[in-house]
Amino acid sequence: MSRAGKKRKLDKSRQDRLYFDSYSDVTIHEEMLADHVRTNAYRTAIFRNSDSIRGKVVLDVGAGTGVLSIFCAQAGARKVFAVEACSIAEQAEKIVKQNKMEDRVEVIRGTVETVELPEQVDVIVSEWMGYALLHESMLNSVLYARDRWLKPGGLILPNRAELFIAPVSDPVVEDRLYFWYNVKDQYGVDMSCMADFAQKCVRNSDIAVNTVAGEDVLSHPARFAELDLRSVTVEELRSVGGAFRCESFGSAAVNAFCVYFTVSFPCPDGPHALVLSTSPFQPETHWKQAVLYVDRPEEVVQDTPVSGEVRMYPSEDSARHVCVHVDFSIGNHKRQSKTFSIPDWTSDAHI
Ligand code: SAH
Repeated sequence: MSRAGKKRKLDKSRQDRLYFDSYSDVTIHEEMLADHVRTNAYRTAIFRNSDSIRGKVVLDVGAGTGVLSIFCAQAGARKVFAVEACSIAEQAEKIVKQNKMEDRVEVIRGTVETVELPEQVDVIVSEWMGYALLHESMLNSVLYARDRWLKPGGLILPNRAELFIAPVSDPVVEDRLYFWYNVKDQYGVDMSCMADFAQKCVRNSDIAVNTVAGEDVLSHPARFAELDLRSVTVEELRSVGGAFRCESFGSAAVNAFCVYFTVSFPCPDGPHALVLSTSPFQPETHWKQAVLYVDRPEEVVQDTPVSGEVRMYPSEDSARHVCVHVDFSIGNHKRQSKTFSIPDWTSDAHI
């Protein structure tokens, strides 16, 4: 038997190299900038906080093309340190010059853990979120930057993150499984015995990154974790999660859970924070949703309780990969539990 599938533990420097390589290509930056929900949320949040940014010093952690740094300069920042570890920093430099911001935006190539800044900063801005929020573990770098470079009481954008879960039905998966019963009608070859195998393949323990349609969500989503980015620690990120309880809207089969996140920005001029949401009920973002297929789908009727606990933690094989463990019960059915992870390192892993 081939051993190719055997997982190898990746050492940290190799993980980091693969991770930063993925950001050296244009595609990922194109995708992030084309995501208007994402980019406009940051732009609006930065302008709404211009009273705290004007005349101040900003650190952009993971500047990429420098877009957030330039928004901060447009909002009146005196100085922006645009720190970027990978070669996209060279493009950021050009973009800063093209926008005549070079007197205020300084692109610094290096990891935020190793660069030396000439002064402490008043504001940190960063777009660090990965699939299911924590995939890629870039938040660790933002927390490092906060503890090392942010003045006491400084502003961090965004300053809060929340994680949600909801049971979902997935008609596409149902159709895919049913397909094997139809092969005989089409070709005269009965392949219905493939159904069990197909179930195992489709309902595997990979975190699937898919767009979940609002109508397939079977209950109000439940919040299971909240991070205050002003105070959360790297140690606390080793295990993020909590309990949840939902009640289903009506009759359906629960095939999966959908996990998504929001991040919020303070809004000094209004009563509510500005929220960047990746909910299936909100306009789509490039993060889509994380879909976790259960091994045994269960039927629910209106008000059937679906409850349990979610834990998210870095994978032992590769600390930049997130694992999600869900322990759940649906109505009176036997409790189930399953651990999921993002399959392989891909070049578009940030989304
Ligand atoms: N701020 C840009 C890019 C966000 S993507 C935008 O909003 O479009 C995250 C970026 O952070 C990537 O370009 C990645 O290379 C960079 N990055 C991740 N960890 C970093 C670290 N520790 N130090 C410096 N850059 C980092």
